Amino acid sequence: MTIRTRIAPSPTGDPHLGTAYMALFNWAFAKSQGGQFLLRIEDTDQARSNPASEKIIFDALDWLGLARDEGPDAGGPCGPYRQSERKDIYLEWVDVLLKAGHAFKCFCTPERLDVLRAEQRAAGHNTGYDGHCQQYTPDEVQARITAGEQCVVRMKVPQDGVCRFRDELRGDIEIPYSQIDMQVLLKTDGFPTYHLAVVVDDHLMGITHILRGEEWISSVPKHKLLYDYFGWQMPVMVHLPLLRNPDHSKLSKRKHPTSVNYYRDLGILPEALVNYLGMMGWSMPDEREMFSKEEMRDAFDLQRMSLGGPVFDMRKLSWLNGQYLRNLSADDFMDRLEQWAVNRERLSRLVPLIQERTERFADIVPQVDYLLGNRGALTADQFGSNRLNADQVIQILDHTSRSLDTLHKWERDQLFETCQSLADYMGVKLRDFLQPLFLAISGREVSLPLFDSMVFLGSDLTRVRIRDAIGTVGVSKKAAKRLEKAYQEYQTTRGGLNPQIEK
Ligand code: GLU
Repeated sequence: MTIRTRIAPSPTGDPHLGTAYMALFNWAFAKSQGGQFLLRIEDTDQARSNPASEKIIFDALDWLGLARDEGPDAGGPCGPYRQSERKDIYLEWVDVLLKAGHAFKCFCTPERLDVLRAEQRAAGHNTGYDGHCQQYTPDEVQARITAGEQCVVRMKVPQDGVCRFRDELRGDIEIPYSQIDMQVLLKTDGFPTYHLAVVVDDHLMGITHILRGEEWISSVPKHKLLYDYFGWQMPVMVHLPLLRNPDHSKLSKRKHPTSVNYYRDLGILPEALVNYLGMMGWSMPDEREMFSKEEMRDAFDLQRMSLGGPVFDMRKLSWLNGQYLRNLSADDFMDRLEQWAVNRERLSRLVPLIQERTERFADIVPQVDYLLGNRGALTADQFGSNRLNADQVIQILDHTSRSLDTLHKWERDQLFETCQSLADYMGVKLRDFLQPLFLAISGREVSLPLFDSMVFLGSDLTRVRIRDAIGTVGVSKKAAKRLEKAYQEYQTTRGGLNPQIEK
């Protein structure tokens, strides 16, 4: 049997470190067994998925050197590898479940489900679907459909008993069915939910081992039921530990940059990042810290995984990167520096910004230091402003950060529009609004034009700097809640979601 693994990211934003981590382990495991590694794009959440994010997933995997044997970009015999292009396949398999009585059509309105949930909560019960629509006869179901009622398809779940399954790293796991909801499999828009699509695709794509994050353990009973209903063999399950922030909370972009591109833009070498990710919950048999992905593949053994949440620590990664940099020959060092950012193509983008402001070449570096390197550290005092009060400063930083997180086009006009719209909403002059952002981006109150600086830095470095500034100013838990609410209100005034913004 050929071992086949996959990653199945949803293209909803930045190429996440977690995706890179899963990709590395799936790749290393498959390749250690002479197997194949696939990429599938899980884009059934149409509102949140977008082609730009898909492209940056491909690019990030390429940068890390993790080649796919099959995938939307690599092709292969089990395509299409984008779930949005597999709608008919899911419909076929939903039909199989309906005919065999393992699933049913559900006509419950969102209002009924809200009331049901509220009642369950009030009674101190788990919330979940109550099986209401299972009572209808086929004729009644047909009559409702003919009358134009909308429905979803839900899977049946036993009311009693326990689901038992094995996780290769964690041993036998038992989850009572009472904790499992009658999951929606097919939505009203005809798209499958994750749970149906993942099972159908993993089976049809011949996946033998599923290596994914531990947050999916609680979904296994649904998946196992579906495998049983279809009469298919469930792949071997391996739930890897989640990456953690240094404070051991789940890695989140509010506390830690999570985009692979951030590390690339910072000048981390791909081989150092891959090496570091390889140390997350795994170690080489001789415990050496520096190893290539090929060495990892050759020594790979799942039994060497440890389950304690691995901490992704920027200092350790920087140290490791330094080791790689020091090992380069002077020539290679120059080549890599050039590939990174010090090249004509990239530096020429600065010319329109600095030419008019330059009398001697020696004037250049002090103007662009924050664009080519880290900006200086900030203090909260620097954000004290005559024209803005402390609440406004934090609101500007917070709302800009949130808006930029969902901006797809990282261009001057979009950045300007984002800030202008927020400034208008807050009733603050644009000039004043931009002041804390100048500080966050350049570390100074006066620098090269702000939006040009943001474009040059790119979205990842820019957003991390703003988040870092928020951390410097400090936001209490209470203030964070207030800001979140205020931002939601702002979005409502924009008519829900901004056309160029998609959550
Ligand atoms: N689309 C899921 C994710 O984004 C895939 C989970 C799985 O590997 O089953 O993580």
